[in-house]
Amino acid sequence: MQARVALVTGGTGGIGTSIVKRLADMGHKVATNFRDEARGRAWQDKMKAEGIDVALAQGDVSSPEQAEALVREVERQIGPVDILVNNAGITRDSTFHKMSAQQWNDVICTNLNSCFNVTRPVIEGMRERKWGRIVQISSINGQKGQYGQANYAAAKAGMHGFTISLAQENAKFGITVNTVSPGYIGTDMVMAVPEEVRNKIVAQIPTGRLGTPEEIAYAVSFFMPDEAGWITGANLSANGGQYMGW
Ligand code: NDP
Repeated sequence: MQARVALVTGGTGGIGTSIVKRLADMGHKVATNFRDEARGRAWQDKMKAEGIDVALAQGDVSSPEQAEALVREVERQIGPVDILVNNAGITRDSTFHKMSAQQWNDVICTNLNSCFNVTRPVIEGMRERKWGRIVQISSINGQKGQYGQANYAAAKAGMHGFTISLAQENAKFGITVNTVSPGYIGTDMVMAVPEEVRNKIVAQIPTGRLGTPEEIAYAVSFFMPDEAGWITGANLSANGGQYMGW
């Protein structure tokens, strides 16, 4: 496949790092954002030590202005974005009757509004160049709901609504738009859950284990080749069989 320019938001995190590595292994030029400069540069050095050059641009994806600035900075460093993976995300869990407006807004702004904020500055270029790949990293909990995660599940379900609308609008321009919905992956986000709760989660997964970030990166990579050009508006579940609905 032709080498492309890829932007993975939240690329310094558990799943993001694997997506960055996988896309780089496929021969693409890859960029991500950071919020904390020292942490971002330390991560970039670690990648370099593994032989992977990653362009870095500062920006909080929950801010439209910062998201646009980070896209422009990536374009300046490695060229126009052909592949966008909207991966940055957070949790602020609480049962709804105790949830604050701040917890609701933080999750909606970071997980869902970010899709608008980062995709909007890249979509026109993709349409002009008649090629693009956009993948949202949603979640099993956006498909089935989750106790204590009304904010997160709403944002993650919204990401797929965004995907299927964008897929329709941009199909004629050689742009595919898809969602990957991971189940529980052994990153910091999930390892922070108390062990007894985690054991109960694993008991519900038919494969009998948590997923790995590499398995999610593989699912993302599936949408990249030209041969995948007819697959758009899909929601690819990667969850060890825990949920088999849409
Ligand atoms: P991590 O917490 O390891 O990584 C999250 C990444 O997002 C970090 O790079 C973080 O950067 C970045 N980020 C968070 N908020 C912002 C922001 N406002 N602006 C810019 N960057 C931001 O999470 P995971 O790797 O586990 O998760 C990645 C994605 O996968 C998320 O969308 C998550 O919801 C989803 N997911 C994860 C699952 C799991 O089991 N882990 C299951 C299903 C879905 P910083 O270092 O600056 O905080």
